[in-house]
Amino acid sequence: MPRIGVLALQGCVKLHQEKIQKLGASSILVKNKEDLFMVDGLILPGGESSTMIKICDLFGLWNPLYERGGQIPYWGVCAGSILMAKEVLNPNQKSLALMNVQATRNAYGRQIQSFESNAIVFQNKPTSGFFIRAPKLIALSKDVQSLATFESETVAWEEGMHMVSSFHPELTDSCEMHSYFLSKVKDSAL
Ligand code: GLN
Repeated sequence: MPRIGVLALQGCVKLHQEKIQKLGASSILVKNKEDLFMVDGLILPGGESSTMIKICDLFGLWNPLYERGGQIPYWGVCAGSILMAKEVLNPNQKSLALMNVQATRNAYGRQIQSFESNAIVFQNKPTSGFFIRAPKLIALSKDVQSLATFESETVAWEEGMHMVSSFHPELTDSCEMHSYFLSKVKDSAL
């Protein structure tokens, strides 16, 4: 079984770990470079991307995070998707640029405008997630495939081994996205 890391610097960490464990895989909290090189896939959770960047810089984790992203699948959730994007707007900030995606921060509104939707469509079936100061994510290349839509806009993308979602599935009962990421990690380990 692959080991799934959850970047544990800030944000919504624990619920991802619980989902992964529920699916029968092991999960470790990634807090430093050594942890990062022990996992087969990494979830970059939601939270506040600008804070995560500061903490990464403080602990010398930014370059290792970039380097490891060339080797194992990453799934960026909300703030994590902003870290993964090649271009970041509103405002601009540095990013790992591991996917050809443009992220416009806070495009779904402020914290008070957060909402849950059961009408996200993933693999032709409805799934649920929370949008919390979520970014709008746009593909910048044809290599980026739509994974999930909400009101006819793509809210999750994949490119090669990586994926991003603007919503938080870990705050709901749904396991589909976690299960999908796990299958990507298994495939890339073959
Ligand atoms: N708006 C936040 C950011 O820019 C992301 C919010 C979230 O992860 N729920 O990082």
